[in-house]
Amino acid sequence: MTKITDHIRNATGKPIFSIEVIPPIKGDNLKNLLDNIEPLMEFKPPFIDVTYHREEYIERPMPDGTIKKIVTRKRPGTVGICSAIMHRFNVDPVPHVLCGGFSREETEDFLIDLHYLGIDNVLVLRGDPAKPFNTFKPKENGYSYASELVEQVCNMNKGIYLHEGDTALSCSNFCIGVAGYPEKHFEAADHTTDFNYLKQKVDKGADYIVTQMFFDNRKFFDFVDKCRQAGINVPIIPGLKPLSTRRQLTVLPKIFYLEMPEELVKAVEACENDEQARQVGIDWSIQQSRELMAAGVPVLHFYTMGKSDNIVKIARELF
Ligand code: FAD
Repeated sequence: MTKITDHIRNATGKPIFSIEVIPPIKGDNLKNLLDNIEPLMEFKPPFIDVTYHREEYIERPMPDGTIKKIVTRKRPGTVGICSAIMHRFNVDPVPHVLCGGFSREETEDFLIDLHYLGIDNVLVLRGDPAKPFNTFKPKENGYSYASELVEQVCNMNKGIYLHEGDTALSCSNFCIGVAGYPEKHFEAADHTTDFNYLKQKVDKGADYIVTQMFFDNRKFFDFVDKCRQAGINVPIIPGLKPLSTRRQLTVLPKIFYLEMPEELVKAVEACENDEQARQVGIDWSIQQSRELMAAGVPVLHFYTMGKSDNIVKIARELF
């Protein structure tokens, strides 16, 4: 399969269209997910990201009065979905690979599975704290930061595995993406600190950056300028989420630590129902995308969050 950086290099003129999908809730049908992707194939995405969802902890009262801690996973199936996408659409899947919930050995096995499937792209992330906790804790013998995981993937690309000494083993060939935050990662003390750690991920071997969603292009342009000034020269892919309900006006800033532009807030507040808000979100996203295209971004990467009808409407205007 083709590396994301090669897809970008091979693109002619226009930016590439790509999407991120999330695995369905456990028990749901894969068919719905694939049916949602199908209409977007018209716009020829060369790659599709598939998120990874770590374990969660539930405290369940037992008949004897004790509390049992139960580990559960709401959205398993990232690797299976990647394989289904490859075979159904002949598109490169980009599985998200997390530090959270994995020991280094489990990460190695996970990467080996991806390599066997012929998957050559990964988005490397730390992951958020396991619910319901507020602070991130690495698993025993796991990693605290995405940069450490980038290092492990780079080592596998050189044929260096965890416990094999200098035995010559075959090399993987992963193209590595990492996350960037135009509005700062919520845990970072300030932009400069966050930025230095982003540079560390790239210095350790990340090939490209995908940003958190943003609704104000100025934040993205400032972010790219600062990256270039700091000598980060890898492609930076803007992540875009079309606002789709009135509620998202307050929910998205809380979940993703971002600001909504005043103009967008006013337009959504004037809506009488979610249908109108969805149209405002589509129009805003088209406007944002046109400006990003004019600025020469390599890819427009849309977060579908399980729905594609609004993204179809946006893509029809742009591609
Ligand atoms: P890191 O780069 O490790 O940074 C985490 C924090 O630690 C930052 O505040 C950073 O400034 C700081 N930091 C970094 N290195 C160091 C260091 N050496 N010393 C001290 N501080 C340091 N989450 C999921 O669970 N599943 C997904 O599929 C998923 N997909 C995502 C896709 C994109 C495009 C984005 C932007 C985010 C995604 N997330 C996903 C969310 C992500 O896991 C969280 O935002 C997480 O809190 C941070 O991940 P990271 O890889 O940016 O972490």
